[in-house]
Amino acid sequence: MCRRPVMFQPPCIPPDHILTALREIFGERVEHVRIVERSWFAWLHGRACATTRRNTILLTGHAAAFWRDPDLILHEYFHVLRQWQTGRLTLWRYVAEWLRRGYRHNRFEIEARQFAAAHRERLGPLLDEKQRKH
Ligand SMILES: [Zn+2]
Repeated sequence: MCRRPVMFQPPCIPPDHILTALREIFGERVEHVRIVERSWFAWLHGRACATTRRNTILLTGHAAAFWRDPDLILHEYFHVLRQWQTGRLTLWRYVAEWLRRGYRHNRFEIEARQFAAAHRERLGPLLDEKQRKH
């Protein structure tokens, strides 16, 4: 799934039905979040297939695979909308938390996983439904 990155990659446009579903779930606008696929920056982060910054989700692989993964979509949008955007998550806080607790046990990751777990059953069928129509 994670392909080799390319140097300059313009943001890609999220499918409308996913934006609509995310707007319902988060109860706020989501259109401003940039999705960058095959990102060098995400690739350098190694382990994960995605990483986030303010208003941005950077993917190591292709966006098409991302849009099929409700858990990952919710997890990454949560980081952007509820952590970066609110100012709770900053690079320094993340690094401090990561040094203290590692990746799996840091509070930013725990919260994002919990949010994804709580909403994946709602988002999953919306993605499938749309795919069946094509
Ligand atoms: Zn995460």
